[in-house]
Amino acid sequence: MLEKKDYYRLPWSMNDNPIAWIEVTDICNIHCEGCYRQYMTGHKSLEQLKEEVLFFKKWRNPDNFSIAGGEPLIHPHIIELVAFMKEQGIKPIILSNGVALTPELLRELKKAGLTGFTMHVDSHQNRPHWLNKTEKEHNELRQSIADMVASVGGLYLVFNSTVYPDTYHEIPDVVRWGQANIEKVQGLVFITYRTATTSDSIATDKNDQQIDMSKLSYTRESFDGHFITAPEVYQIIKDHFPEYEAAGYLGGSIRHDSYKWLIGAMVGTKNQMYGSVGKKTMEFAQIGHHLWTGRYLAYLSQARIGSKIFLLSPFDPILRQAWKKRLKDVVSYPSRIFDGIYTQSIGIIQAPDLLPDGRADMCDSCPDITIFDGKFVNSCRMDEYRLFGGFVSVLEKEEPAEKVDA
Ligand code: SF4
Repeated sequence: MLEKKDYYRLPWSMNDNPIAWIEVTDICNIHCEGCYRQYMTGHKSLEQLKEEVLFFKKWRNPDNFSIAGGEPLIHPHIIELVAFMKEQGIKPIILSNGVALTPELLRELKKAGLTGFTMHVDSHQNRPHWLNKTEKEHNELRQSIADMVASVGGLYLVFNSTVYPDTYHEIPDVVRWGQANIEKVQGLVFITYRTATTSDSIATDKNDQQIDMSKLSYTRESFDGHFITAPEVYQIIKDHFPEYEAAGYLGGSIRHDSYKWLIGAMVGTKNQMYGSVGKKTMEFAQIGHHLWTGRYLAYLSQARIGSKIFLLSPFDPILRQAWKKRLKDVVSYPSRIFDGIYTQSIGIIQAPDLLPDGRADMCDSCPDITIFDGKFVNSCRMDEYRLFGGFVSVLEKEEPAEKVDA
């Protein structure tokens, strides 16, 4: 069972956070079931985006820009935007579904200064030619994207997927595929699906007026499944890959016992996974990076970390286990001493949970905060601002009182 004392509480905050989430468009070329954005305004202008970049630089102290949408690759000024971010000395990372990716576009983005991609691939995206395929079958799509990105070289690559009740059991298939591609894939992220239901809830705006919550893309008529939690995702990975361990977390904004972000990194070669980094290495990475650059860290610039990572094993008992396994491996197969050592991060994000009093338990120090109307707003709930001027409260409908015959 997870215990918060065993993990490092990431030191990120509103004004000192490694991630700046910038949405370039609300247009997309596919329609994912778990998406929380809908088409209302289209592409932002390059001028507006540059202003947002400077706003984040002033108020957020980011190490990277997560360029999101909608689908960022269809924005007509994506190359210029990446180049502008690079000029500001902040790593540009594109969050994409990969549909519009081509080798030519990849080369242009790399030339403009792109650091890497987070690619969202899962089996609930309604992709043409991929309907009714399992997560395991989607590994073929992940592979084609990973091969294309690797062919250009020098770009960081993470795969995201939303976890639904019917795909939870397939998480190990995705982790296994990721490990087999540790040279090309630097991280995996699992985001648990959430929705609000219109049949049994009512929603009110900031003035206590009832609103039509079906206008929000993250509502549906009904849902009778179980919402998967971050500890459950952790557990299924741990059950199948005992050498996996998490290292850092962010809790909930309301509940003391939530794990909203649970992040870690496995260490291995293309032949063998040795283990994971522990909380001490995570602390060292965050504090060391902050001392060195003045910013906290979310994405490494490169995943081939080399044996130097094991220098931290005297301070980190979790990493020490990995070091011992590495030594055993090299003694058994001496030629493996030349195998490159990589890290592969595993992130687990538990999306907001609705509480009985109408509030939502969000991610403490939300790393994916974005800008709306000159203010920071959690990107997962920005459509509440766009449609209703602020966060809405969602309460369960009261059962009608039973009629008593006189
Ligand atoms: S609260 Fe922030 S980090 Fe958490 S799911 Fe929402 S946008 Fe993402």
